[in-house]
Amino acid sequence: MWPALLSLVALSPLISAHGPHIAQHIARANPAASSPTTAHSSLATSSTNTTTTANTTSVTLTFSLISTNPTAVPLSDIVSSASTQPTQALTTTWQPGSVPTFIPGAPALPNALALNPANYPALDKTPPTDSPEVLQWIQEVANTGIPIPDIPVTNPGGCGNNTAAVANATERCWWTCGGCTRPTDITTCPKKDTWGLTYDDGPGLYTPDLLTYFQQHSLHSTFFVVGSRCISRPAMLQDEYMAGHQIAAHTWSHPYMTTRTNEEVIAELGWSKKIIKDALGVTPLHWRPPFGDIDDRVRAIATAMNLETVIWTRISPTQTFDTGDYTLAAGGVTAQQVLNNWESIMGNSSKISTGFIALEHDLWQQTVDIAVGYILPEALAHSPSFNITPVIECLNMPLANAYVETNDNSTNPPPADAPISHVKRPQSWPKLVSPYPDHRAPCNPPVDQAAEHQRAALSTLLSYILG
Ligand SMILES: [Zn+2]
Repeated sequence: MWPALLSLVALSPLISAHGPHIAQHIARANPAASSPTTAHSSLATSSTNTTTTANTTSVTLTFSLISTNPTAVPLSDIVSSASTQPTQALTTTWQPGSVPTFIPGAPALPNALALNPANYPALDKTPPTDSPEVLQWIQEVANTGIPIPDIPVTNPGGCGNNTAAVANATERCWWTCGGCTRPTDITTCPKKDTWGLTYDDGPGLYTPDLLTYFQQHSLHSTFFVVGSRCISRPAMLQDEYMAGHQIAAHTWSHPYMTTRTNEEVIAELGWSKKIIKDALGVTPLHWRPPFGDIDDRVRAIATAMNLETVIWTRISPTQTFDTGDYTLAAGGVTAQQVLNNWESIMGNSSKISTGFIALEHDLWQQTVDIAVGYILPEALAHSPSFNITPVIECLNMPLANAYVETNDNSTNPPPADAPISHVKRPQSWPKLVSPYPDHRAPCNPPVDQAAEHQRAALSTLLSYILG
């Protein structure tokens, strides 16, 4: 498909990207109440996933599946109108005091039932910035001495609504409009044919189905969890953690982080770290910005809060390792399209010298169905074999290094504690003042700004048309 047409037909997932986050909030009082009813988000802006298409009625698989799960839900049933499937119970409800013996030195598990949602910010809303907790975190960020670049917040609406920021996207290294990354961002696994497996936005109602599949196939993943959904389902978070999966942060309320003030970014990251610590006893050292929306300002704050940034692999403006599964539940893509995207990802993985990190989600019935029914079986049958691991392990580090309390600080200094010479120190960010040298690193990889602008403009146009 030619670029212009590709851009046009690619826009539906961009328009509705992560829209369900806005519409489907997990009610604490009624956790079964979530249903994918609203597709569109005025915030939807992600500009780089062009591997999916808007035509959801006539797409067929462009390849032959090598392997599927014998119990897979038929592809024709993985649709936005799918009937609600029964949910699985957790494999284990962990007793307080249980010790994760697979992480040397890990503290005992806290009592999940003792966590009171009233002690945490509201579900899916950026927390207030004047609470004692956030004021303390703001002070702690200041105490690190890490300069926060003076970059204005972006407007909601993404690239098409941010002319000045787009013009400055390379300098501020704004991933959303151009795909810029810094050397501090983790976007690949170093070793070829290694897949850093990740699932975002849970814990969700169907996460236990995924956990069961992982258990059956001895797989481990990284879960980028949304803080306000963790306080809704702390026992599920504990089950993920105690099964040996890596738990990492995905903010408190899943906003576009560059639209938030410094204090709001601190609140989002601080509360997401705190609920994980309160539920698990350990504090994550990694996070993923929702929608990949990060610039040097947000990067600096994350670094000051001891969080390393993980995005997903992107080898060109039109080749991102994004399955596009996040709009399955809202009807933005079909299951066949997601599988075609997955086939492209596997094909692209053979063209790069490193391993890869791909984007998938565990919030929805449909995303879990396609993962356990098709994507994971296909990956397990791939030749050459993928080495499938959590992100921390694909980086050649033990799971213990995923958490503050168990990290080996001598070999893996956390970002804010790292010596200046440490490779992860933000030496390359622009407009920094002493003590860091102002070595400006190029965006990586180079991006096609014109194509990004075109996609952004078309995205905005179609969002008006489609509502
Ligand atoms: Zn997300």
